[in-house]
Amino acid sequence: MQANSLQEYLESVHRDYAGLDGGEVASYIPELTKADPAWFGIALITVDGHVYQEGDSRQSFTIQSISKAISYGIALEDKGVEAVLKKVGVEPSGEAFNSISLEPDTGRPLNPMINAGAIATVSLIAGDTPVAKMQRMLKTYKDYLGHPVMVDQEVYLSEKSTGHRNRAIAYLLHNSNIIEKDTDEVLDAYFQQCSILVTCRDLALMGATLANDGVNPITGVRALQSCYVPKVLSVMSSCGMYDYSGAWIYEGGMPAKSGVGGGIVAVLPGQFGLAVFSPPLDERGNSVRGLAVCKRISSDFGLHMLHTNRTSAPTVFHSIYDATMVQSKRTRNVEQTRLLAELGHTVCVLELKGDLVFSSAEIVIGESMRLSEKADKLIIDFTRVGTINGGALNLLIDLVRSQYDHGKTVLFTGIANQYVVKKSARGILKNLEELPLLRFDDVDHALEWCEECLLAGQGGVGEGEAPLATQAFCAGFSEPELSALEVMLERRQYAAGDYLCREGEPADCLYFLLQGQVSVSVPLGQRRSGRISTISAGSAFGEMAMLDQGKRSADIIADTDVTCSILDYTRLDHSAMQDDSVAQVRLKLVTNIARGLTKKLRQATLEIKSLRN
Ligand code: GLN
Repeated sequence: MQANSLQEYLESVHRDYAGLDGGEVASYIPELTKADPAWFGIALITVDGHVYQEGDSRQSFTIQSISKAISYGIALEDKGVEAVLKKVGVEPSGEAFNSISLEPDTGRPLNPMINAGAIATVSLIAGDTPVAKMQRMLKTYKDYLGHPVMVDQEVYLSEKSTGHRNRAIAYLLHNSNIIEKDTDEVLDAYFQQCSILVTCRDLALMGATLANDGVNPITGVRALQSCYVPKVLSVMSSCGMYDYSGAWIYEGGMPAKSGVGGGIVAVLPGQFGLAVFSPPLDERGNSVRGLAVCKRISSDFGLHMLHTNRTSAPTVFHSIYDATMVQSKRTRNVEQTRLLAELGHTVCVLELKGDLVFSSAEIVIGESMRLSEKADKLIIDFTRVGTINGGALNLLIDLVRSQYDHGKTVLFTGIANQYVVKKSARGILKNLEELPLLRFDDVDHALEWCEECLLAGQGGVGEGEAPLATQAFCAGFSEPELSALEVMLERRQYAAGDYLCREGEPADCLYFLLQGQVSVSVPLGQRRSGRISTISAGSAFGEMAMLDQGKRSADIIADTDVTCSILDYTRLDHSAMQDDSVAQVRLKLVTNIARGLTKKLRQATLEIKSLRN
């Protein structure tokens, strides 16, 4: 496969930093000295699950301190924020990872990213035995990575037999009742979690999962509840790089976590997880090449998380129009068309796009308020909306409430997850079930309903039998011409559900719909069909075949009981040869049909244009 430009970019960064020497492989855990200082891997995984990797990205190594971020998320899930905060703070210590940074009066570790806080965090993970705690952890790693992980027994035993400082810290925590019981078991689970084997690609996927609101972007499995993701990322931002954390966030601008195994993972929320693996460490315990590569990538692309993009109307609206510009796919007779052209400006459609967050909701509300000065009905379409933030949704539902309070109507269409919207709406709109808010799936049907309301408000134009003279195809006909046409017509009745004609049948007549309603629909296979338009009394159909003598291009089905007047084309042709007035009828009819087709073509052009936006 051809390398894409981001892959080539990672390769060039890898080349640029492969020669960066300096730092020492960690030696205080004897087993770690076996790492090759030349190992160097980079991996980046996006929230869409695209993987880019370079160098030793598949080499496994022990996760070490990076496990602290994962365990903090688990403890939050198992005990909740309040209980966890009682035992571990969230203030940066400004001290080394193995410092004994405990609050003087309570003995509470300052944060979960230093060893003291991490050991206390392990004690909060569900499970009474080290085995049970490890099972809980390993299950979570599997969710983050999509595959099982293993503990490196040598590294684990090596750390266990030399980790006297950690043991001392754990007993201090026990002394102040931060660890309530089983201190040795807690320590054992801590040593094991530090010895979990991962690759650089694994770390990037962990980061991408956090960037993707806790859901693994490749498997779709949730690894961490959404509400805890910002909590984990916060402590990574403020404390993830030990006593280099302040400078790191200032320069790199991404929540990150490093480990003495040589790994670093950085997370850009909503965008990607980035991981670098290179064992030589600086004096603070951070990978030398790891830091350099993360900073370089951050600066090349301006990735600082506080450097955000501004939301503006063009990023929020796909299109805005009213019902004079776009109509539903229901064909209208002359009088209805005239009325809708006059009143259509009171129905406005806002097609949204992108993710709905506070700032975009605020823009939608402002625009809706402006439109509702002249419009009585607003259709807000979510078809092109990605994720909907809960607070933003509440703001929009509040808008709906105030519009209904003022006698206006709002319809939401294209909502993929109706359940979420209904749940929020119920708290704000007491009479939700009675409102048409969520009644229509798409803009077309919502528009049709709004048009019907407008016409009903005008005394239900189009009810009863529509005389031939009101047909769009008979526009400009004189009385004698109408009579000449009338004698050639044959009256026919259909019951609701009847097929007037089917796709593929030879076409030999034009239908004037006098009473009732029919749907033009195309079979889509697997017993599905798609509505092209709905035609009501006063309109005609079957005209295309009159011009090209082709076959029927769609099914016509009676929605209600229907009365039609049918014109057999052959009669028109034969009579026209002998009779001048019939020749005149024929000419006017063809001209009107051509006009109708042009109108449809223009509408189709508008639709295609809106699809290409
Ligand atoms: N297992 C290591 C320790 O407790 C983890 C430290 C680290 O990666 N910074 O010493």
